[in-house]
Amino acid sequence: MKRYRTIAGMKRDQRVCRLCSEAGYPLESWPVLAPGDTQRAYMFGQAPGIVEGEERLPWRGRAGKTLRRWLELDEDEFYATFYCASVTRCYPGRAPSGRGDRTPTPEEQALCERWRDAELRLLRPLLVVTVGGLAARRLLGVKSVTECVGVRYELDGAVAVPLPHPSGASSWLNLPENRARLTQAVGLIRDVLATLA
Ligand code: SF4
Repeated sequence: MKRYRTIAGMKRDQRVCRLCSEAGYPLESWPVLAPGDTQRAYMFGQAPGIVEGEERLPWRGRAGKTLRRWLELDEDEFYATFYCASVTRCYPGRAPSGRGDRTPTPEEQALCERWRDAELRLLRPLLVVTVGGLAARRLLGVKSVTECVGVRYELDGAVAVPLPHPSGASSWLNLPENRARLTQAVGLIRDVLATLA
């Protein structure tokens, strides 16, 4: 595995990565790249959606708007604060069932880990925010969103705080106790962000 010395150098290769296509998976975009290379907060989602894949920028669609509303950050603040990454970086296409987007396979997730590992090594974030169940499972080893949202973890010297996925497809937030978990998690994130500022 190549050992990158800078985020910019890593992105030159990441931008043209086709590992999953070469392994036979039907990707529907090129990799989505995080703007910036000096943020000390790292956001880790599941996979880009169709809008992100077209724009090649993270969190451009409706879920991104919801996420920024939760965090009380406008677009400029959001992208300046968080280096936005995800378990896989290319739009995986629609699920065969027709309901939502395809979840990247374990092999795709494993292929894409090289980018996450390089980013965490180079950025050395002080705050890591996982978004959605898959990202929390991959990075923190937790079993479910219900178990981890509202809890503060430690990850290689960083504070790690899981959020649920802001997609409207999830009914998780319909339960009042889960909305309380979200409020708790956002409070934890904003506390750490205040120390970074
Ligand atoms: S999902 Fe990740 S590993 Fe797969 S082609 Fe895209 S950038 Fe490469």
